[in-house]
Amino acid sequence: MQKTILITGASSGIGRASAELFHKNGWNVVATMRTPEKEEELTKLDNVLVTKLDVQDQSSINNAIQQAIDKYGKIDVLLNNAGYGLAGSFESMNEETIRRQFEVNVFGLFAVTQAVLPHMRKEKSGMLINISSVGGRMTFPLFSLYHATKFAVEGFSESMQYEMEQIGVQVKVVEPGSVKTEFAGRSLDFQHNEELAEYNELIHKVTSGFEERRKEGAGSTPDMTAAVIYEAATDGKDQLRYRAGEDAEQLLTARAGMDDVSFRDMIKQNFSL
Ligand code: NAP
Repeated sequence: MQKTILITGASSGIGRASAELFHKNGWNVVATMRTPEKEEELTKLDNVLVTKLDVQDQSSINNAIQQAIDKYGKIDVLLNNAGYGLAGSFESMNEETIRRQFEVNVFGLFAVTQAVLPHMRKEKSGMLINISSVGGRMTFPLFSLYHATKFAVEGFSESMQYEMEQIGVQVKVVEPGSVKTEFAGRSLDFQHNEELAEYNELIHKVTSGFEERRKEGAGSTPDMTAAVIYEAATDGKDQLRYRAGEDAEQLLTARAGMDDVSFRDMIKQNFSL
């Protein structure tokens, strides 16, 4: 039987590339997004349902899941992809900014997962694929809160395996390195109060370091990440984590082979800190 995937944040980047790839491979795709009225491409495809889901709006979550079940009978895979990055100096961030990062990347993911589980439990099958990041396993300077959310996603996913096994549901985590999407532009909230002058030099060096990498064209494409997500969904393996991208492979291998201080010093050296 044709399988069905529900994707959050399918309006752009990795979510969109995943919607296209699963569709191309004959899946039913529920491509959810905050503003489906703006979507012009995915709506034209057969077996793709474009519908509204804002991970911060419970009724939109419930509606999207119900529509998916009504239309396709079953949700085989939930791809928790929606997310954005918050960067800058922690001391500059107000409570609202901090909470919003967790609302989308963590509580939003929890809300969608909880809404899908009664269905998967009834079906005694399903898969949760959570998009983490290399930043769920190691850290860069000035992304403390983003990392905190992705470390949360990693811990949540790893522990969930035990209870999901009871209901026939698999958990997978995809850890992309740098991916050329809207993430570094529209989806990056940068906050720094320059009056906190002690941090200015660090801010300058780190932002220039990332900018240089961007100019060099570092990172992979959303299609490459989608291919890893597709592999996770279909390889039939009992495997939790999937690294996506050469940089992810390199960074996580380095992190696993180094103690905390050596790894921190290597990152400092990379950014000339
Ligand atoms: P992107 O192109 O900016 O896509 C982010 C998506 O999340 C957009 O569709 C956005 O929707 C959606 N979103 C944001 N807030 C939402 C909310 N409240 N409810 C529903 N959707 C919401 O960036 P991307 O790189 O594809 O990011 C996708 C995931 O990959 C994120 O979880 C990110 O942390 C992770 N990731 C990205 C990279 C990278 O380098 N790009 C690396 C590692 C991990 P709107 O269009 O409505 O804003």
